[in-house]
Amino acid sequence: MKDARKAVALISGGLDSLLAAKVIQQQGVHVEGINFYTGFCVEGHTHAIRKKDRAKPKRNNALWVAEQLGIKLHIVDIIEEYKDVVINPKHGYGANLNPCLDCKVFMVQKAREWIEKNDFDFIITGEVIGQRPKSQRKDTMPVIARESGADQLLLRPLCAKNLEPTTPELEGWVDREKLHDFEGRTRKPQMALAKQFGFEDYAQPAGGCCFLTDAQYSHKLADMWKARGDRKYELDDIMLLKVGRHLRPRSHFKMIIGREDGENKFLHGYRKQYTHLFTTSHKGPLVLIDGKIEEDELELAAQITARFSQGRNADKVDVEIHTLAGESLVRQVTPIAGEAIPREWYL
Ligand code: SF4
Repeated sequence: MKDARKAVALISGGLDSLLAAKVIQQQGVHVEGINFYTGFCVEGHTHAIRKKDRAKPKRNNALWVAEQLGIKLHIVDIIEEYKDVVINPKHGYGANLNPCLDCKVFMVQKAREWIEKNDFDFIITGEVIGQRPKSQRKDTMPVIARESGADQLLLRPLCAKNLEPTTPELEGWVDREKLHDFEGRTRKPQMALAKQFGFEDYAQPAGGCCFLTDAQYSHKLADMWKARGDRKYELDDIMLLKVGRHLRPRSHFKMIIGREDGENKFLHGYRKQYTHLFTTSHKGPLVLIDGKIEEDELELAAQITARFSQGRNADKVDVEIHTLAGESLVRQVTPIAGEAIPREWYL
């Protein structure tokens, strides 16, 4: 006789995946978690760098969820394969550059491959019908099951009663009666269930699980693609889009300007790959130049760097410039006036 059935739960770190896994765990199923790292994840990155987010717990919520459940968590790096999902989403984007439906299909497909390799029986997600306009609708649920190849092995414990029974229910691995019928955008049923299970202090993601749902982030990504004439990215590119103030004074270069010590330190790690500037006469930001800056544009870049330093009102500010070619020079400049920076330069 086969031991307890085994399910893998997609763990984002949010409340829904926590509850979905718990509901199945309570039915005597052996549950392990899987968390996919795409590079766009909000978790533990900028809020670990910036001072204003210091109050937020510096935890990886997926690990925290696994700890609450007492389950093993498999963190899987899908950075490379995920690029095609972001660049060519078959089902298009949501409100920003978030390819949520393709993303869900892809992650469930990866989970299906994982259960085949690891001899698990089925997959759990925390999806709820109507929770998200693009990816969690009644008509998209079958699309995810079908296109991922998971079909009847994909169980959504929080809304299963509103869907056709799946293999785990039909085979009696889980009791359908003990599953849920949550629907819509309200979070009340989830919060009530969390209370019932005694979960407190869970993560409440506002928009989604990744930066692609963020309008400003998506704008910066679209700008980067346009400037390079190519819809490609490397991990470093998408990391840098999360950090600093981004200004594009010319179509062929933009400036990434540290907004505080934490960001300056983070950017410092990238300085050798970029022409970079910093002020020496006053405290100021570290600035990376992304793109190809011409010799005669260094003055402008130095003036902008000075503008964001503590010398913004000084007559002269010394700025050190290190080019990609390995040259270093010092320019004494007058900081550019705030009103001389057009709004459209800010990304
Ligand atoms: S918010 Fe991001 S990680 Fe979540 S489904 Fe959408 S694209 Fe995927």
